[in-house]
Amino acid sequence: MALRVKALESLMVEKGLVDPAALDAIVDHFEHKVGPRNGARVVAKAWSDPAYKARLMEDATSAIAELGYAGGQGDHMVVVENTPTVHNLVVCTLCSCYPWPVLGLPPVWYKSAPYRSRAVIDPRGVIGEFGVKLPDEVEVRVWDSTAEIRYLVLPERPAGREGLSEDELAALVTRNGMIGTARL
Ligand code: FE
Repeated sequence: MALRVKALESLMVEKGLVDPAALDAIVDHFEHKVGPRNGARVVAKAWSDPAYKARLMEDATSAIAELGYAGGQGDHMVVVENTPTVHNLVVCTLCSCYPWPVLGLPPVWYKSAPYRSRAVIDPRGVIGEFGVKLPDEVEVRVWDSTAEIRYLVLPERPAGREGLSEDELAALVTRNGMIGTARL
């Protein structure tokens, strides 16, 4: 696959369709300037500020933009909330749609065919392979991303963590927690 991508890129550069420096800048932007830390700040603010959480659940795109995170691959955001009885899992069965402004670039497994197919066929099994044993009474909801709508899981706030600042709370939030392949 890496060779095929390289061959495709070489061909497009040769034909003058893309500028390699521009490609490097885009990848660098999403690897280093954007990433799951943005999503973690959204989650920490929702945990700390009930009014913000209400706005986030009502209109995630605007509430996320309040923190400065917006743009391509995040134009139509929906936040789904984990509760003691509901666990949410995000996938893109068709390809690899992912909320770039809040999570950065998708991990390799998110784009893999086994994850994409099995997340809908056996979500509980897939989550189990990530090391999470969901109690039988917890309902699993799977959200299939599209070119339009991108999902962010709002994990449950870990218990016994009162009095932490937003920054300290954000440090508890993991990328997989916001995809739904981890519980915090
Ligand atoms: Fe996709």
